[in-house]
Amino acid sequence: MDRLFLFDFDDTLANFSIYNSWVLKQPVRIFPPIGSTIKGAREVLDFLKGESDELVMVTMNMILDAGVKWEKLERVGMRRWFDEDNVHMVKEKTPDLFRRLTAGRDPSRCYMVGNSLKHDIVPALGAGIKAVYIPRPLIKRLLPARLPRSKDLTVLRDIGQLIEAYDGL
Ligand SMILES: [Mg+2]
Repeated sequence: MDRLFLFDFDDTLANFSIYNSWVLKQPVRIFPPIGSTIKGAREVLDFLKGESDELVMVTMNMILDAGVKWEKLERVGMRRWFDEDNVHMVKEKTPDLFRRLTAGRDPSRCYMVGNSLKHDIVPALGAGIKAVYIPRPLIKRLLPARLPRSKDLTVLRDIGQLIEAYDGL
């Protein structure tokens, strides 16, 4: 109800991010974009909406212009939950960015959900908010990284687990 969920996009909500960025960057569209939302992601976003939590997307955008990045988001149906007001396309995710995005809120009710320790989890914990780490792609699960030691960190096997974990987050 009073929670704020910040979501990474690539490899957290949607598949084939590198391929699709490459396809959309080509001057001539020969190759089709592929993939879709990650299994369970749509249900999680609908669930959080149903809880009246606030959703924000924080996505790195190094190589596409904002219009093309939006094309990438729209192609997998992100307009259902996100628009220009709650999407932040950034060059870098830093503790300072997360502090700004969660300013005025109880940090223990703010969660960054992402697949990258470096880009999502470490800066979120650095900002004093909570973090939900969902290792992807598979190789990250097979070769587990050393996790930051923090009571504010939750690790999930897949995004769908967020619904079961919700009450305890
Ligand atoms: Mg990602």
